[in-house]
Amino acid sequence: MVGRVQQVFYPLSLSAKILARIHTLPPKPFWVIIMAFVVTENCIKCKFTDCVDVCPVDCFHQGPNFLVIDPDECIDCTLCEPECPANAIFAEDELPEGQEHFIQLNAELAKEWPLITEVQSPLPDADDWNGKEGKLDLLER
Ligand code: SF4
Ligand code: SF4
Repeated sequence: MVGRVQQVFYPLSLSAKILARIHTLPPKPFWVIIMAFVVTENCIKCKFTDCVDVCPVDCFHQGPNFLVIDPDECIDCTLCEPECPANAIFAEDELPEGQEHFIQLNAELAKEWPLITEVQSPLPDADDWNGKEGKLDLLER
């Protein structure tokens, strides 16, 4: 019984330790090159915000109908990518064809939009917009 409890709780305590360590890391020195993750078009008009909950370093900034990742803060931990119900998050070197301009858009809007650190309700018609193409023109700033 004790062994089973340890099996369940040891990985959890390990995760907590890793997260605690990440929180104590100093800011990235200028010579460390870390690939950033990027939010792409399918987030527009969805904004489910599940990604925000797992980010250990608070990289996400929100606009009216889209979220972006600040590339200067992202530590490439990969935690947000599988959490996005819209499959809108990619590593910057694995972006789908035609989504490359979102690298610049994330960097630019992260400087303008406020930080978001807590999960919020998705936009009311998020499920209807999930998977629709050609949403860039609907991005609100
Ligand atoms: S989980 Fe995906 S769709 Fe939701 S806000 Fe984050 S990036 Fe956008
Ligand atoms: S890869 Fe990690 S650090 Fe970067 S935005 Fe996603 S959760 Fe945050």
